[in-house]
Amino acid sequence: AREQLLHAQKMDAVGKLASGIAHDIHNVLGIILGFARTRQRLDEPQDDLAPVAQELADALEGTELAARRGAAVCRKLLNFSRRSVTLTETFDVAEALRELRPLLQQLLPPNIRLEIKTPDQPLPIHFDRNQFELALLNLVTNARDAMQEGGVCVVGAEPYGDGQIEIAIRDNGSGMSAEAVQRAFEPFFTTKPVGVGTGLGLSVVYDLVQRAGGDVIIDSTPGFGTAVKIRLPRTDSVTAQMPEQSPASLRVWL
Ligand code: ADP
Repeated sequence: AREQLLHAQKMDAVGKLASGIAHDIHNVLGIILGFARTRQRLDEPQDDLAPVAQELADALEGTELAARRGAAVCRKLLNFSRRSVTLTETFDVAEALRELRPLLQQLLPPNIRLEIKTPDQPLPIHFDRNQFELALLNLVTNARDAMQEGGVCVVGAEPYGDGQIEIAIRDNGSGMSAEAVQRAFEPFFTTKPVGVGTGLGLSVVYDLVQRAGGDVIIDSTPGFGTAVKIRLPRTDSVTAQMPEQSPASLRVWL
């Protein structure tokens, strides 16, 4: 519950930050466009070019100031994104899912049954544990939202292919249109009402998983349900290719 609250607060902050930045950039571009129009003065017949030259010089100076402001806004955004530090570690995802059961259960109303399907063998992945839990909360929340009339949410993990692990979140809810599947990873893409959806859940999950060398696949059939599959390298196969990392290495993602 604490993590959920934290997550909601983070999403709220990101949304506010994004609209603030869009507003700032819009203002700055408006100012620059205004100054750029000064060029039209050169099309008018002039007896004396000196006043026009002065206007152009003023416009260029104003443009420089506005562009500096725009650059400062972008720096602010970059600093914000650098602040998100991930703490990666190797952990058994099968055990992690079993431990998450009470938290996930709490998200679901009584008419949705939760099934956790994990093998007895350990399934080691290298990921930020906290981010992993937030990702699961996000995906199970999506499954819940798709099952307004109830249903089953199956969260499972199993070995996949050669040296990968697949974590799947399945529901038998509304499913997604082909367009929604295609756009699902776009930041701010949502079909939910304003205030309910941020459109950031899947894009953040996709980003995190890609950074970890994995992939996210959506299988969905309208009217039948959706499976979101996260494929990540098995750590015991990755360590052969990657330089040894300390169990909890601090990594800043840019
Ligand atoms: P949000 O949940 O805030 O809308 P997401 O990025 O998590 O943002 O999801 C984007 C969109 O993808 C959702 O609005 C919804 O239309 C669709 N979606 C995601 N997961 C599911 C699911 N399990 N079943 C049906 N639609 C889904």
